[in-house]
Amino acid sequence: LSHRLLVGIDIGGTKMAATAITPNGRILGRAQAPTAAHPTYASFVEGLAQLVEQALAASGYGDGRLAGIGIGCTGPVDPARGTVHNPYTLPLPDGSDIVTPLCQRFGVPVALENDADAAALGECWLGAGAGRQLVVCITVGTGIGAGIVRHGRIVRGAAGVHPEIGHQIVDPAGPECYCGARGCWEALASGTAVGKAGQAAAAGGTSPALLALAGGRPEAVTGELVFEAARAGDEAAERILARAIEASATALFNLVHFLGPDAIILGGGVMRHYDLFEPALREVLGRCILMPVPGMLLAPARLGADAGVLGAARAVAQASGSTEDSS
Ligand SMILES: [Zn+2]
Repeated sequence: LSHRLLVGIDIGGTKMAATAITPNGRILGRAQAPTAAHPTYASFVEGLAQLVEQALAASGYGDGRLAGIGIGCTGPVDPARGTVHNPYTLPLPDGSDIVTPLCQRFGVPVALENDADAAALGECWLGAGAGRQLVVCITVGTGIGAGIVRHGRIVRGAAGVHPEIGHQIVDPAGPECYCGARGCWEALASGTAVGKAGQAAAAGGTSPALLALAGGRPEAVTGELVFEAARAGDEAAERILARAIEASATALFNLVHFLGPDAIILGGGVMRHYDLFEPALREVLGRCILMPVPGMLLAPARLGADAGVLGAARAVAQASGSTEDSS
């Protein structure tokens, strides 16, 4: 088994990345392409196949070593059917099967997971969640996604659905979310939400500093610029972040009481600013008096963007029963 390779693929709205990986998680080769470069189903599937071949070529080995392909894809996805249901950010019709064509082309098992689940599985295999029993791994970026991993396996809802933890309501009077609800965690604390609040502050004249950082164009304010302004002492930006941090603390309080995890891992672009979130999150965990999980870990993710490809590779190894602990 040691000379065989897995390929993990991460499909996002902007780019697709593939990585050739040994069964124990060593990365040997990488390839990537812009998602928009493949505007039809047929070209998309062809693009995935090319990425697999490029990652294998970059590893120095050929197709002959390939033992499985794991895909983490921006959801919704149906892991059992191998279909993608995200016509919103992907150039694929609702219900596109991206697993069967790769199985046929390469003659190996192919697994499909939600990208947040794949990232969670990666962090629990080789990152911050390793050795823990019940882990909630949260990715805060454009949106807020999360995966729950119990004893090294993804926890799914009925019919295989992916729990959408980012859409728990933390403020019923909060801003509208695209899901139809009000005050979802994601609508208050994602990078997109922080950026939108920053745009309003810049446009409304309450944050000249943000407006200046964005070159005088309110629509150019991003979440990252809000963090930059807050770190420079801008009060409007600090207020925006205080709300995002408070929403995150409430969400964590809920999560701990629902699930009783022994680890909560925070990753994604927004969590490059983990230091700004940590004090409020630790404080709220201290108030979870009904849930005294001994040694509960709160930590930033460790694998960065590799969590998704590593977790996707892990998923196909588990599905094909080739892990050392596939009980
Ligand atoms: Zn929502």
